Amino acid sequence: MLAEWKVATAQEEQDWTSARCRDGASTMTALFFSEQIDDIARAKAICQLCPLRGLCLEGALRRREPWGVWGGQLFLNGKILPQKRKRGRPPKNPQVAQSA
Ligand code: SF4
Repeated sequence: MLAEWKVATAQEEQDWTSARCRDGASTMTALFFSEQIDDIARAKAICQLCPLRGLCLEGALRRREPWGVWGGQLFLNGKILPQKRKRGRPPKNPQVAQSA
């Protein structure tokens, strides 16, 4: 069991070298964890051309990422937010907002 885990981890480390958000200097971190709608859209656009998008999204769902853009999706409290709304605007469906 432990050997399987080590193989999977080594494979994942090798794969992440081609991530589009990985520039070696973490210059895109603010973009991927921004609350600004324009920044979130830019981060999602970067993800669209990433060869690791499926793997990234799967991992973010499994880890229940609390925040940020992962695999082309915006996460909040471990769930995908379909759309970030501007501040001050009430949610269209309050029940959906409470479950996010
Ligand atoms: S899909 Fe994941 S690895 Fe690829 S650019 Fe987006 S956040 Fe980075």
